Amino acid sequence: MNELALFGGPKTITESFARYNSIGGEEAAAVQEVMKSGVLSKFLGCWDADFYGGEKVQAFEKAWAQYFDVRHAVTVNSNTSGIMAAIGAIGIEPGDEVIVSPWTMSATATAILVWNGIPVFADIDRETFNLYPASIEKRITPLTKAIVVTDIFGQAADLDEIMKIAHRHGLRVIEDCAQAPGARYKGKYVGTIADIGVFSLNYHKHIHTGEGGVCVTNDDALAERMQLIRNHAESVVGDKGVTDLSNMIGFNFRMTEIEAAIGIEQLKKLKDLVNERIHAANRLSAGISGLTGLTPPVVKPDCTHVYYVYPLLYDAKQNGVSRNQIVDALAAEGVSISNSYINLHLLPMYQRKQAYGTKGFPWSAPFYKGSVSYEKGICPVAEALNDGGYMGIGMCEYYYTDRQIDLIVQAFQKIWVNLDVLREQK
Ligand SMILES: *Cc1c(COP(=O)(O)O)cnc(C)c1O
Repeated sequence: MNELALFGGPKTITESFARYNSIGGEEAAAVQEVMKSGVLSKFLGCWDADFYGGEKVQAFEKAWAQYFDVRHAVTVNSNTSGIMAAIGAIGIEPGDEVIVSPWTMSATATAILVWNGIPVFADIDRETFNLYPASIEKRITPLTKAIVVTDIFGQAADLDEIMKIAHRHGLRVIEDCAQAPGARYKGKYVGTIADIGVFSLNYHKHIHTGEGGVCVTNDDALAERMQLIRNHAESVVGDKGVTDLSNMIGFNFRMTEIEAAIGIEQLKKLKDLVNERIHAANRLSAGISGLTGLTPPVVKPDCTHVYYVYPLLYDAKQNGVSRNQIVDALAAEGVSISNSYINLHLLPMYQRKQAYGTKGFPWSAPFYKGSVSYEKGICPVAEALNDGGYMGIGMCEYYYTDRQIDLIVQAFQKIWVNLDVLREQK
């Protein structure tokens, strides 16, 4: 009865879990209303009343700014676009270095390359998987202009420390809070602490509009620059009387009225959806605490974790069983779990330093005076976690009832009872 499913025993979880789905009748009704109006988007790419978008876009931005207690919310068509707008807004020059985490979605770093900035990867904290302040400091050179910090998996990075470093060195800070909507840090919402915070509204996130994103800032000038980059800046700046032309190549990052109408309804559900993730994660942590070599997520003082991913630390030495053996055994029991995240610096584009064209641009360009390294070994903590210390459960993939969490706990316990069997497996 206790034989591992990996070796032909009975599987712990035989039912399929319900997909996480935040969309309901409210969103359907909101979309219907927009459809009836015929105005699916109202943006105009020139200096006009409609430069700021339609009624739903503006109402959504107002609601978002109010909820997160921040002066400006600028909607965009994705978090990727939002980070691009943010990097452009802070006034990056070609060849400037921007420090970023290797444990984040690729777009966090490519947004830097879009402006011919140079991503510089610092290492992460082993407990939170977020940028490690001391490693950031080591990476600062005279070329450093900014830090893009990701609040990975749903918990804030060490923002006070990072903001202190930034102030000491005159750097801007952008927060990629795609995975942490509604997470708190010392009494504030994540995303509102740095110069700019960027949320994602893609299908996989806590709340979504299909595709979409929101940039937030308390800085009027940065908000205006992001609004310009969102909507064809170069053809607007003249009539609007904008004199700072740096990075005023404007794109079309505009959100539609349909997405904004959905977003208004989704925002109303954020608190409950986040609390459900926290409840499930806490139940899981209580159930698996005390298993040798396994560390449930560490939540830092004065922080809330909204658990986009439920990350676990695993110490193979303590058990004589590798992380991959554990993950395979869990998968066989029916637990959906991943054995890796990412190490951006090891992607082929960085390894070959080839972004635009074939000649190594922008690293090879005369405007870049530095010599960034992307070699394996530059981020030992991040690399070791991927190689064998990390596993994670996606908390926005399924709903997870209490009973289902208990089944996951049972699967872990069954494996830990059978560690000696796995130890003998070669
Ligand atoms: C999802 C995600 C993104 C990209 O979001 P899009 O809205 O799909 O562009 C960026 N960074 C992180 C950390 C993410 O999780």
